[in-house]
Amino acid sequence: MQIPDSLKPYLSHEFKLLKANTPRILTVKNLKHNRILHTPSKPINTHDSSILKLLFNLLYNAVMSAPTQVKMEGVGLSAVQIGILANAFVAHINNQWELFVNPKLSYLGHKTVTDTEGCLSIPNTTVPVTRAYKIKISYITINGNRQRQTLKSFDARVVQHEYDHLQGILITDKQPSTL
Ligand SMILES: [Zn+2]
Repeated sequence: MQIPDSLKPYLSHEFKLLKANTPRILTVKNLKHNRILHTPSKPINTHDSSILKLLFNLLYNAVMSAPTQVKMEGVGLSAVQIGILANAFVAHINNQWELFVNPKLSYLGHKTVTDTEGCLSIPNTTVPVTRAYKIKISYITINGNRQRQTLKSFDARVVQHEYDHLQGILITDKQPSTL
């Protein structure tokens, strides 16, 4: 696959396409990968709309080809997890796959829920994580439009998990809830 110049500033040395169109998912078991996973991603210049479809295809193909063992694996993937330090992730929300680019959480509800989560970058591990039950998020869609959504429950959890990835935060970095 040809990688356009507009995506190149975001690529880490660890970004590699293995099979056609399918990048490798980085995991914490590798020290270099672990460092990248803890690096905050950068906002994307969305004027080049071809970059949006490419990011969606790379992330979607990677998540679809990944082995999933535990809950929360396989419902979302952030660009940093395939070595692209760009503010983008895909998530399975409202029963469909969506691309979230340059997302901003505009509201985190006070009501929280604690549940176990897994992560494709931390194989065979689950961690209890406390998340807001309801959120509002604004983001650029695959078509280049900014959109707002209110999400609840599991959808809100998935998006908060991926949003954390863009800040370089993994579920194993979260402090257990101390109520
Ligand atoms: Zn994850």
